[in-house]
Amino acid sequence: MKQKEITLNTLLDGKNINLSAISTEDIGNEHISTSVETPMRADAFAISDEEKMAKIEAHFKGIMETLGLDLKDDSLKGTPERVAKMYVKEIFNGLNPANKPKIALFENRYQYNQMLVEKDITFYSNCEHHFVPIFGKAHVAYISNGKVIGLSKLNRIVQYYSKRPQVQERLTMQIAKELQMVLQTDDVAVLIDAKHLCVSSRGVQDINSATVSSFYGGKFAEEATKKEFLTYVGMRTDY
Ligand SMILES: [Zn+2]
Repeated sequence: MKQKEITLNTLLDGKNINLSAISTEDIGNEHISTSVETPMRADAFAISDEEKMAKIEAHFKGIMETLGLDLKDDSLKGTPERVAKMYVKEIFNGLNPANKPKIALFENRYQYNQMLVEKDITFYSNCEHHFVPIFGKAHVAYISNGKVIGLSKLNRIVQYYSKRPQVQERLTMQIAKELQMVLQTDDVAVLIDAKHLCVSSRGVQDINSATVSSFYGGKFAEEATKKEFLTYVGMRTDY
């Protein structure tokens, strides 16, 4: 499998890429994210989920009709309502901070200075440039400062940020920053190995390509620690 490594620290601090010099079309086609935060409107939650679903249903109906589909057909007529419900309640429910997982920290002095790794967390997200799936595996790790969280919570954090229109680099950063905040340590690593349907099903049609993005904070920036993590999750360490 061909893999492309994205180094987030250089991508996002703007040293290598000057976003103002790139057209909106290039940003979308090259899947470049403009910021770590998901760009949200100030009035994002001024209306209820029910009102959002009603609006999306009407808009999606318009899209289908514009495409020439006959919404009187039994198979199609419920689609706008289903899509609206799926957007608000399922695949994009990570946009709403009210759905953010509540994480409790536990003292565990026995695990002080130990690397804790949760690998192969399956996630499903959607590309914010084409609204088609991005899916794959996330591997996350941290070095405990004496405090730990339940392993299922690592999974929950990955799922929460996946359920937004995303860019893989931003998803990686958002998971990493959240873990650093929750665990009160810089020593966090996140590696995401994903397929983008917008790449494999359209445009270049490269069905075998996968994109790997990574974040190495604190001690994980040290070569030996990074290697230990990469070996643990079964990645090549000779990039
Ligand atoms: Zn895309």
